Amino acid sequence: MKSIESIIELMVDVPDFPKPGILFKDITPVLGNHEAFVSLARQFYRSLEKPEEVSKIVAIEARGFILGAALAQHINAGLVLVRKPGKLPRERLSHTYDLEYGTDTLEIHKEDISPGDKVIIIDDVLATGGTAKATCDMCKKLGAEILGLHVLLEIEALKGREKIDVPLHVLAKC
Ligand code: AMP
Repeated sequence: MKSIESIIELMVDVPDFPKPGILFKDITPVLGNHEAFVSLARQFYRSLEKPEEVSKIVAIEARGFILGAALAQHINAGLVLVRKPGKLPRERLSHTYDLEYGTDTLEIHKEDISPGDKVIIIDDVLATGGTAKATCDMCKKLGAEILGLHVLLEIEALKGREKIDVPLHVLAKC
């Protein structure tokens, strides 16, 4: 099994993507390396406090889907997708949140979470924290108990952690 350090080493920093000033943390080389990808799923599994209690893995578009699907192979929990607007076909809960400039919106199928569900939320990168916070807010609104937010990489300088009021588990920081 690869260590989290060697997994992170495979990630590539891409300057000025998707816009000038953003240093994009690209996980695709991790996904393309079988041992690293399998190890990453196992590392996420090990970060769960009570895997047997999780009823749903809530995965954030788009790289969270891949990580959430890999983790779902290890625990007895369904996968729920949080998507950008206009992608989910059935009755949705929408949540609009503030960005530095402007707003963004995320959606979830209302039916996919029931009151009493114990969920974990998963994504690749925690940056400003807005996306993760919006996802937490939607899960709470649908009656879920959030056991934890699990992220591969936290960009500490952006202080996303300050927005998060559920147990936060990051596999690595930069
Ligand atoms: P934020 O809401 O600012 O915490 O942004 C987190 C979401 O945007 C996650 O779904 C990430 O996949 C993506 N993201 C934000 N910043 C980066 C970055 N520097 N590199 C890769 N993905 C990022």
